[in-house]
Amino acid sequence: MNKKDIYLCAINNIQSGTCSEDCKFCTQAVIHKADIKRYKLKSTSRIIKEAIAAKQNKAVGYCLVTSTAFLDEKLLRFFCQTAKQLKKIVDINLIACSGIANLSQLKQLKKAGFDSYNHNIETSENYYTNICTAHSWSKRYDTCIDIKKAGLKLCSGGIFGLGENCQDRVDMVKVLKDLHINSCAINFYHPNDALPIKRNNISVDEAFDIIKYIKDELKHTKKIMVAGGREYMFAHKQYEVFKYGANSIVIGDYLTTKGEQITKEIQTIQNLGYNIKEVCD
Ligand code: SF4
Repeated sequence: MNKKDIYLCAINNIQSGTCSEDCKFCTQAVIHKADIKRYKLKSTSRIIKEAIAAKQNKAVGYCLVTSTAFLDEKLLRFFCQTAKQLKKIVDINLIACSGIANLSQLKQLKKAGFDSYNHNIETSENYYTNICTAHSWSKRYDTCIDIKKAGLKLCSGGIFGLGENCQDRVDMVKVLKDLHINSCAINFYHPNDALPIKRNNISVDEAFDIIKYIKDELKHTKKIMVAGGREYMFAHKQYEVFKYGANSIVIGDYLTTKGEQITKEIQTIQNLGYNIKEVCD
């Protein structure tokens, strides 16, 4: 019997803590004054160097993230210029994550060498105004549609434990299913004293059930990825996410929180009998 394949994805927060939006779960929103590292754009050479390291660490996906709600023209130029150089040097599934974008911008990213775009719908349309008032859920949804029209692979998902109820989760997963996403990013809320949402309202068992539900519903989605909040939500049970249907995780650090040490993580996953894929098929 083949060992279960696991895909690793690295995220690079190339611009941190500068966002003017008000998402209640996000430490990168300036308004919350969270105690995080804040910096402007990293250089292209540094991003490429970090891509080489990610590939050496068996990542098959490399996601460039900015703390912005909207992709503006300056960022778009930077993304395109970086992708053109990076793809000549590193063979990796290159993902952009820079918020709401229009079809023309997304087509330019595709042309420059991006393979995928990550854009989470976060929660149900109904619950969205409880977690963000600065921009609408429908704008996020429209971007997901345009990502597919532009020929990019769509990575989407959301964040659980924000106070949403079961119906919100069902509604959200139904949208992801209808979008025929390529990869699903499942995040679990990691509370921070500076943020307005004070606690994560789901138990570990509920979190496992959410992964299983998503896996069962999104039968044609290649990667079910547990992303942010894995260590916080599951602690010593974190690798059990694979038993419930996840086949992908983020390695290294998250956007503003520390992750596991990479070589230790890889060793642990292999010792558990899983096969770490080195190609993003
Ligand atoms: S738009 Fe993105 S970066 Fe900005 S506050 Fe919301 S989640 Fe954070």
